[in-house]
Amino acid sequence: MPHHPDCIFCKIIAGQAPAVRVHEDEHTLSFMDIRPASPGHLLVISKDHYPNLFEIEDAALSAVTLASRRLARAMQRALQPAGLRLAQFNGAPAGQTVFHYHVHLVPIYDGQPVGSHGRHLAEPAQLAELAARIRAALE
Ligand code: 5GP
Ligand code: ZN
Repeated sequence: MPHHPDCIFCKIIAGQAPAVRVHEDEHTLSFMDIRPASPGHLLVISKDHYPNLFEIEDAALSAVTLASRRLARAMQRALQPAGLRLAQFNGAPAGQTVFHYHVHLVPIYDGQPVGSHGRHLAEPAQLAELAARIRAALE
């Protein structure tokens, strides 16, 4: 599916908007969520523009799912959270705000309640530090 001119995630893929990138492969890009629900919250997206789960093609869905597990394992090693939540929203009523298929990886830490994503802007330096730790733990 061609890139969508008004889509912020397509702009990030094209390098036309900034992001703290963690990893990319042929079909996926992973970067830190700019308004994280918890420290280390990252997004895994398909490089092609599909609005949601209903429309994404099998190969792209499979690539995002496998990348999510790889990144999840790296997060587990790097950040040692008590748990890790995956989330994915379809349609505005379900909480979707960016209409380009993506999976949230949200580390859960003991004694730290998880906030809502998309609320508070993170410190760029903190995002860069967390991204470097996750990247270094990738296998
Ligand atoms: P959803 O559509 O699943 O509700 O969430 C979209 C997520 O994308 C939110 O958590 C929001 O913080 C994140 N987001 C929106 N715009 C940007 C951006 O320009 N850069 C980054 N890194 N994250 C973004
Ligand atoms: Zn897009």
